[in-house]
Amino acid sequence: MQSQEQVKLLEILSSVADPEIPVLSIDEMGILRGVAIEHGRVKVTITPTYSGCPAIDQIAQDVSTVLADNGYPESEVLLVLSPAWTTDWMSDESKQKLRDYGIAPPCRTTDLSQSSEEQRLLFTAPCPQCRSLNTQIISQFGSTACKALWKCNQCKEPFDYFKPI
Ligand SMILES: [Zn+2]
Repeated sequence: MQSQEQVKLLEILSSVADPEIPVLSIDEMGILRGVAIEHGRVKVTITPTYSGCPAIDQIAQDVSTVLADNGYPESEVLLVLSPAWTTDWMSDESKQKLRDYGIAPPCRTTDLSQSSEEQRLLFTAPCPQCRSLNTQIISQFGSTACKALWKCNQCKEPFDYFKPI
């Protein structure tokens, strides 16, 4: 059950972008797990995408700034590492935004677990530009550790694939 104030706080926090994926907010990334207010102090619960992710300092900074700008000078960010963040917490809408941004969104981890190791290796990331499946992996690591670098053989463009975890 969310109070009116919580809804308002969530709205404020939805303007905080994920430092690694600026097109998505921390809410859309699924890392914003909750918000509560106790004695005028806002407590924001975040589950980082990867433990020890350097982006978390940036997020904590941005959260306290946006809250202060909206009349909540006292806030703290609490990290919750369990249950671990999974790309499944991203909504379909968020995945579409990723695609529009040029990053192939992660498939559902359940799709991965159901397939054999052989199928996993054969798993193909569709090109976010032209949707072609005629793509190939270039490197397990793209611009950041959470992304792999792929190339589309159809439109010849390289693209990032957000790895499902
Ligand atoms: Zn393409």
